[in-house]
Amino acid sequence: MKQFQMEYTSDELLLKELDKIALWEKNTMTSGVCFQIFAETMDHERIHRVCNAIKKTIPSAGYIGASTNGNIILGAKSESDIVVVCSVFEYPTSKFEVLQYELNNENYEAVTADLIKKVDERPWVKAVEMLVTIRGMSMTGFCQELSKMRKDVLFYGGGAFNSDINSDESYVFSSEGDINAHSAVFVLMGGNDLHVATNYITGWKPLGRELFVTRADGNLLNEIDGKPAYYTYQKYLRIGNDEHFFRNTLEFPLFYYYNGINILRAPTACLPDGTLKMTADINEHVKARLAYGDPETILQEVKKRRNDLASFKPEAIRIYSCAARRTYWGDTEISNETMPFNSVAPTSGFFTSGEFMRTGRFVNQHNVTLVVAALREGEPSDVEAIDFSFLSDESAGKFSLINRLANFIEISTAELEEANARLEVMAVTDELTQIYNRREIQHRMKAALDEEDASVALVMLDVDFFKKVNDTYGHKVGDRVLKGLSAMLRDELDRVRCNAVVGRWGGEEFMVLLSNCAPGYEKEVAERIRQSFEKLTFEGCPNQTISLGTAQAQPGESADALCTRVDHALYAAKSSGRNCVRSSEEGE
Ligand code: GH3
Ligand code: MG
Ligand code: MG
Repeated sequence: MKQFQMEYTSDELLLKELDKIALWEKNTMTSGVCFQIFAETMDHERIHRVCNAIKKTIPSAGYIGASTNGNIILGAKSESDIVVVCSVFEYPTSKFEVLQYELNNENYEAVTADLIKKVDERPWVKAVEMLVTIRGMSMTGFCQELSKMRKDVLFYGGGAFNSDINSDESYVFSSEGDINAHSAVFVLMGGNDLHVATNYITGWKPLGRELFVTRADGNLLNEIDGKPAYYTYQKYLRIGNDEHFFRNTLEFPLFYYYNGINILRAPTACLPDGTLKMTADINEHVKARLAYGDPETILQEVKKRRNDLASFKPEAIRIYSCAARRTYWGDTEISNETMPFNSVAPTSGFFTSGEFMRTGRFVNQHNVTLVVAALREGEPSDVEAIDFSFLSDESAGKFSLINRLANFIEISTAELEEANARLEVMAVTDELTQIYNRREIQHRMKAALDEEDASVALVMLDVDFFKKVNDTYGHKVGDRVLKGLSAMLRDELDRVRCNAVVGRWGGEEFMVLLSNCAPGYEKEVAERIRQSFEKLTFEGCPNQTISLGTAQAQPGESADALCTRVDHALYAAKSSGRNCVRSSEEGE
C-alpha cells in the first residue's frame, strides 16, 4: 500500500500531484486507488473542484470525504483547510468499495441492514471505514445496528464536523454521492493480503470513586448518584458554570462503562436544573468515574500505544481524533500526540465530532478519544520498528505533581473500595455459617413480596433437640452441626427450580425464601432438605434431624404475617414428633 498526502492550495498544484499518482499507477501494478478528502471548510464549490480533479485524472478512483474541525497530515495538524490523502492498493487481491447513504433517525435501520447485507455478500471484506454526519441524530441505535455486522469485520471512522465547534453544520460526500448534510459514507476494504488493525487511545485515566448514572436521556446526563449531575463537578472539582465550563470539564470528562469498555463523554454545557449536556449519548444505570487528563500522562499513554502499533508494521495510519482534544491541547501542541504515529507510517486523519470503533462485537461511539486504524498489505516487513524513546522521564522517576496526586487518589480509592466491598459482604453475612443473616433475609423477603406475581413461599427449619447436642458433645460440635446444615442447604438450593436464598434466622433456626415458585413446590423442597439432613454425618456426634414448616404467601400478605404462619407450621412439625414437614396451608 502506498500513501500520498497533499494539502489543497490550488487546482494547478493538485492536478500536478494527481498526475504524478496517475503516472505512478500506470507504471506499477496496482489494484485500486482510494482517496480521502478532509475539509475544514463549508465551501462546497472548492470540494467539487477537488472531486472533479480526481475524476478527471484517475477516473477509476473511489473517494470519501467529510467536513472537519481540522485535518491531520503526516502526523501533524495541517495548516491547510483541505487535505487529500491517497491510498494505492498494490496487491492484486486487495479490494475496496465505496458506499453512500442518506442517514437520519428514521432510516438508520434500513441503512445498516443494507450495509450488513452488502458486507455479507462480500466475504472479502475485512474492515469498514465510515464518515458520518452526527449532529441532530442519536447514534446509539445506529451503533447497535452496526454491531450486528459479521463478527470478523473491523469497523472504524469519524463524525464529520465544522471548524466552529459550536456549529451543527457538517457534511460528508463520496464518489458515490454528492455533498450531503445527513449522510454516511463507507469504504469496504479487504482481500487476502490486506491487513487492518484498530485501536482507541484516550490517555485520560479514571480518578476517584465510582459514580452511578441514576438518570440520563440521550445525551442529557440528568443525575449522578441521585443528584443533579452538575453537583459532581461543583463538589469535587469546583468547576463553575461559567464561560470556561467546557474547557474546564474537558480536563475531567466522564469514563463510563459500556459494552465492556470505558468510554469517555465530556460535558459541553450545564442546564439550569443541573443537567449536563454531554458530547454524545450516555446510558442510564451505568457506572461512571471522573477521568483526569494531564499532558504528561496523555503523552505517555499515546507513545506507549504507538509502540504497540509499530509491531503491526503498518504502511498507513488513519487517526480520528476528537475535536475536544484539539481544544484541550491548543493548535500549537495538538500535534505532540499525533506526531509519534507518523514515525511508524504516514499518518493522516481529522478532528471529529465523534469517533467510532468496534471492540469485540460492539461498535461504539467514543468521545475525547483517538481512534487509530493501521493498514498494511502483505506480510509485515522485517525492518525493526523504531522504539519511541519517551520513557526516560518515567524511568528517572520524574512525575508531575498532578501525576503523583492522581496516583495517590487512584490507589487510595481502590483500597477504600476493596474495604467497602468487604464490609458490604460482612453486613449481610452470618459469621458462623457464612450464609445470609436474618436482616438480609428479611430484606429480601420484603423485596420479593413487593414484586408482583413473584409467588413467594417460605421454609423455616429448626434443629431438633439441639440443646442436647451442645450439652452432650460440646458447643464446638454444635457449631459444626450448624455449619454442616448451612452447607447442605446451599447445595440443595442450588438445585431447586426457582429463585431460592437461605439465611440464619437465629440460633439453630434457618429460613429459606423461595420466589417464582410453583404452588406446593416448597413442600417438595422442604422434604428434600429434611432427608438430606438426616443423612448428613458429623465428626464428634451422631446424625441429627430437623423439623420444618412451610407457607405460601397470599396476595397482599405482609412479611410479618407470613413469618407468623411459617413459624406456626414449624411449631406443628415439632409437636407432631419432629423430623417432619408441616405446611401452613394444611391447617394446624
Ligand atoms: P427443639 O427440638 O424444641 O428445637 O429443641 P432444642 O433443644 O433444639 O431447642 P432449644 O431452643 O431449647 O435450644 C436451642 C439451643 O441452640 C440452645 C442454644 O444453646 C443453641 N444454640 C443457639 N445458637 C448456637 C450456636 O451458635 N452454636 C451452638 N453450638 N449452639 C447454639
Ligand atoms: Mg431446636
Ligand atoms: Mg429453636
